[in-house]
Amino acid sequence: MIDELVDYKTLTNEQKEKLKTNIIESKDARLLYLYLHFTSGEDIENISKLILDTHNLRYIRFMLREFKIGNYSLFIDYILKENDNPGYLYYVLYDIDYLSDEVRIRIIDKLIELGDIRFTIKALYYYFVILGLYSEHLFNTMKELIESNMNVIIDKDNFHAVLDEAVHREDYTVEEQNGFSNNCIKGHNGHIPSIIVCHINNTYGIALKKFYDKSSDGSAHFLIRRDGLVKEIVSLDDSSWGNGTSLSDTSDVYYRFSTSKLVRDTKDNANYYTFSIEHESFDGSLTEEQFNATIGVMKTIIKYLKDKYDYDFIIDREHIIGHDEVAPIVRTKDPGNKFPYDRIIDELRKDKDLC
Ligand SMILES: [Zn+2]
Repeated sequence: MIDELVDYKTLTNEQKEKLKTNIIESKDARLLYLYLHFTSGEDIENISKLILDTHNLRYIRFMLREFKIGNYSLFIDYILKENDNPGYLYYVLYDIDYLSDEVRIRIIDKLIELGDIRFTIKALYYYFVILGLYSEHLFNTMKELIESNMNVIIDKDNFHAVLDEAVHREDYTVEEQNGFSNNCIKGHNGHIPSIIVCHINNTYGIALKKFYDKSSDGSAHFLIRRDGLVKEIVSLDDSSWGNGTSLSDTSDVYYRFSTSKLVRDTKDNANYYTFSIEHESFDGSLTEEQFNATIGVMKTIIKYLKDKYDYDFIIDREHIIGHDEVAPIVRTKDPGNKFPYDRIIDELRKDKDLC
């Protein structure tokens, strides 16, 4: 059924109707959610209610972040009532761009009520600093929370800086890592890597910890901090665990879901033929130091491909892409809508040696 959905455009009207009936009758949250990508208008509202009826929180969140559901507060009411997972709530706040101020405040209030300091601080930082919003109620709650947890007095002049410090505080406890991480696959399974995939991770230290943690399933070739520090994590000779795609249609990283034609045409795990660069950021914006470091890292990759394979990397948007293009079902905002692809491509093309 998944392949039929992916090939939706090529189906006859009769086949489309039959597929729709089968999906509705399945009451399967994943199928219903995937079907939304191929429909519009009233169908979106009707199918969204069927997804709510499945009580499947994973696809309820995916649906809300990707489709602007008219009566979305119904879904938020359900989430706030039925879900006590702080990480889930944080990502509802972080991923869904069209929430009203009132809904955002309700989500943060619930996080505060759950008592999870880490996600509460991240949510407050996201609200005040990244989105640039302000609420007197949240300010007062935050003041109380931070003053009782950190040795600092909050006022209207310093709270952005204090939140910044608080969000990154956990990073200071992360140990420096030496050498390459074991979170990789040796070699490239016969491919010459031809795509650079850009990612973001909210904070450097937590990403670093994860990429060296054997029990996690993530890594990247490079991690670039806000101040421009570059950490090399996986050798360019090997494949990092940054962009895994699957050949199985039961997986949400099924390679045929990719919006990149190159990924769809290369029938293999995308980790083998891509290089991953992770950036510390919430919305894809890079500091000037980080931007320059990214250019340096990309030039290193391009030179490596020339030296090792005599391969000329193609500097364009097909070959410098985002994680959300490789795995659009599970990734949004990775690397986020502020990521400076055009500026990166322009800068790389200025270097005549690379062209
Ligand atoms: Zn990513």
